[in-house]
Amino acid sequence: MINLETPRKFEFLVSQAHQVATEIFRANSRKYDRDEHTYPKELDMLAAVIDGMNEGGALRGAGAGGVGEGNGSKRKSRDGNRNGSNIASLLGLTELSWGDVGLLLTMPRQGLGQAAIAAVADDEQLERFGGKWAAMAITEPEAGSDSAAIRTTATLEGDEYVLNGEKIFVTAGDRAELIVVWATLDREQGRAAIKSFVVERDNPGLILERLEHKLGIRASDTADFRLENCRIPKDNLLGSPEIERGRGFAGVMQTFDNTRPLVAGMAIGVARACLERTRELLSEAGVEVDYDLPPHAQVAAASELIAMESDWEAARLLTMQAAWMADNNKPNSLQASMAKAKAGRTATDIALRCVALCGSIGYGERELLEKWARDVKILDLFEGTQQIQLLIVARHLLGKTSAELK
Ligand SMILES: Cc1cc2nc3c(=O)[nH]c(=O)nc-3n(C[C@H](O)[C@H](O)[C@H](O)COP(=O)(O)OP(=O)(O)OC[C@H]3O[C@@H](n4cnc5c(N)ncnc54)[C@H](O)[C@@H]3O)c2cc1C
Repeated sequence: MINLETPRKFEFLVSQAHQVATEIFRANSRKYDRDEHTYPKELDMLAAVIDGMNEGGALRGAGAGGVGEGNGSKRKSRDGNRNGSNIASLLGLTELSWGDVGLLLTMPRQGLGQAAIAAVADDEQLERFGGKWAAMAITEPEAGSDSAAIRTTATLEGDEYVLNGEKIFVTAGDRAELIVVWATLDREQGRAAIKSFVVERDNPGLILERLEHKLGIRASDTADFRLENCRIPKDNLLGSPEIERGRGFAGVMQTFDNTRPLVAGMAIGVARACLERTRELLSEAGVEVDYDLPPHAQVAAASELIAMESDWEAARLLTMQAAWMADNNKPNSLQASMAKAKAGRTATDIALRCVALCGSIGYGERELLEKWARDVKILDLFEGTQQIQLLIVARHLLGKTSAELK
């Protein structure tokens, strides 16, 4: 049984996130959408506040780095349900995305790479890397949706791994302190040989090639890198260095079970912003939604808004379920992909329909609706596209392996 209200212990976290979303993110939204590649310096002050709150325990688990912490924990409430760091992260990131998802993606300490570190790092690695801003570098020119096609190699030489290859579209890649790089120990051995390695951003073998110009989330830097004889201590390999057939890739892929609900949550946050602003604009135009009347008894615009809100609610509930399952040690790969597919598609659809409902006001730069319609698309693309999530769902439901259903 899932309690679908915000757990009382996270109410403070949500209200703090809402304040940041309103006063810092919304206030700077347009500025950094225009000034692509300029670092939002307002976030430095925020990082210091977050560090202080984390030390005091107030924001425990509120960012991507917190996910996975809750998995395996023995702490449970009396009825066996646990709302831990996955739900906390989801609620915090959803609220911040309501403010501005581009700024969230470039917020110090929030990189999705920390989710990989939290999931598989040992105690010594957690001590070295925990709390640092970590980006995630999986994608290569020849390996997008098919991560098993990764060509970047990691070769053990003495006490070091030497990495060579190319990584593209790395969110926060230029600004992060660490980059979690996926590379293969032996291409002949396929998926099982793919491991993740922590590379310090200032490693001279990690060469920045370019920063992308993008449709949306323009406040967030997206970097392409070349790894050229990039030497890292062998202790920077996350997880086991052994190539165990059928296990290694499953290990790194499990990070997605924690991060996909978070990306779904970001989509839910942006979509809520669209719905709220559209309801206000419709109200200013004399169109009021009457929730006591059935949709067919309302004017068409109000009826459309209600239909979008119910679709949004379905996406939100699926996402909460996936994060709650992670907090309660229940296998959630299916639900994580369902949530990501539903939330990504629904939020993209809602953002464009809100622009349409508001007409020229929705399309112009005086409103943030046009920006949200551009920002939201990425949430249906990275961490696995819409089509890939549906493929994963189909494999689970039909009991097929990735070799049987491509
Ligand atoms: C702004 C931005 C930020 C990003 N951030 C990161 C990051 O931080 N780290 C990182 O590693 N990557 C990142 N990415 C990369 C992103 O994860 C990939 O773009 C995504 O995985 C898709 O890969 P691709 O672009 O190579 O498309 P492709 O894999 O070439 O896919 C192209 C199209 O074909 C479809 N398709 C592919 N295979 C199948 C199939 N088997 N069945 C049905 N349809 C299929 C896809 O859904 C898509 O519509 C980012 C990308 C962008 C745009």
